[in-house]
Amino acid sequence: MNYDPKSSKAEEFINDEEIRETLLYADRNKNNVELIDKILDKARPKKTSSGYVCSGLTHREASVLLSCEIPEKVEEIYKIAEQIKLAFYGNRIVMFAPLYLSNYCVNGCLYCPYHHSNKHIARKKLTMEEIEAEVRALQDMGHKRLAIEAGEDPVNNPIEYILDSIKTIYSIKHKNGAIRRVNVNIAATTVENYRKLKEAGIGTYILFQETYHKESYLKLHPTGPKHDYAYHTEAMDRAMEGGIDDVGLGVLFGLELYRYEFAGLIMHAEHLEAVHGVGPHTISVPRVKRADGIDPTAFDNSISDDIFAKITACIRLAVPYTGMIISTRENEAVRARLLRLGISQVSGGSRTSVGGYTESERPHDTEQFDVSDTRTLDDVVLWLMRSGHIPSFCTACYREGRTGDRFMSLCKTGQIVNCCHPNALMTLAEYLVDYGSAESKKVGFELISTELEKITNPKVKSIAASNIEDIKNSNRRDFRF
Ligand code: SF4
Repeated sequence: MNYDPKSSKAEEFINDEEIRETLLYADRNKNNVELIDKILDKARPKKTSSGYVCSGLTHREASVLLSCEIPEKVEEIYKIAEQIKLAFYGNRIVMFAPLYLSNYCVNGCLYCPYHHSNKHIARKKLTMEEIEAEVRALQDMGHKRLAIEAGEDPVNNPIEYILDSIKTIYSIKHKNGAIRRVNVNIAATTVENYRKLKEAGIGTYILFQETYHKESYLKLHPTGPKHDYAYHTEAMDRAMEGGIDDVGLGVLFGLELYRYEFAGLIMHAEHLEAVHGVGPHTISVPRVKRADGIDPTAFDNSISDDIFAKITACIRLAVPYTGMIISTRENEAVRARLLRLGISQVSGGSRTSVGGYTESERPHDTEQFDVSDTRTLDDVVLWLMRSGHIPSFCTACYREGRTGDRFMSLCKTGQIVNCCHPNALMTLAEYLVDYGSAESKKVGFELISTELEKITNPKVKSIAASNIEDIKNSNRRDFRF
């Protein structure tokens, strides 16, 4: 099998031989200071008259950095990751929450409690009325962006059910709340179904590869349609063929050797760029966690927090324009560390069970994984603001059709800072007025005035400032740049 990033065949664009050679190359060069310096230089953001540009790294270059163990070079990797994050995403952090629709599943994934042969987990599928109640509860917290999750089950969770759910979610207007972007995390499907999802107005289509290592993949997915490695790995191509131009990649770290997964992940991003002209919109970095019947120590490739931080930083250097997501699988300390290294989206107040948001206590009976960060959304918002981040509830790009390569070109020309920054401030002001605690309001409005001062374009600054005043005085215009 030849390596060909432009091929439509999974085993050619995620080529095992190329990954193995990459790992050998990375091993041979992990102490090659001259090469490492060259790669670091390539990764550094460069200032131009219209802002910063970054060239990104190939999977081979990025793999060398991931293998490097020279302390001062590793520190440099972290420093550059932080510079890239600030250059393209600023100090904004996009907020979202998962919404579990159904845990019925016909697959046999060994690391997931929803697998078909788990007979003691409670099975549940939300009705449209229950979805409405969940969405109201999420809106009452202040969420505007959801990621819907459902197991694969053509009888219980057919595409029509997913489409109806999306329609229900978008239709609910409750007080000042509205869900403005529904991202979808469902099993690999057909071009026709992806087209239907696109027509339903989804944001990003997210599908974790779990592992790029085919042999392990087949063992970890012994039964069900997900067993088909090629069908799963080629899903993003079908999604893009169906018109979805924002796709989200991710691997479940801990299942296989992390260096292998890392190279595969970057190759997947290269493939999307080579074939569709646009790389992944987001990359998620989940690690295997404890859940009903799932013991993470049973998977012997678990990674330490230090390695996890290094992986995050190296992804940041390799694909500088791609958003990076961390969920509540990770605790506060890990999230704090990773935020500096490139993460641009976090979830808050998450419930990972079906119907969990309408329960006063976090239910465990239908949970997909154990949540490590159990703080409320307002706690997370306050925490982010205190550490100098701007929690953003903005969904303007999606609403204005700035998706796929249009979003990427905004990002690549540095313009994201001129429109996303004021949008983040306005949406944060709305959140604070509608849902913020007294402490969040105090810290938040002080942060907003400091951040307004940083806007250099006088027209943008004055429009944003006057909108924020209006928001404070309950005079909403729903204006976004
Ligand atoms: S990972 Fe997804 S496909 Fe696999 S068992 Fe869990 S819900 Fe089903």
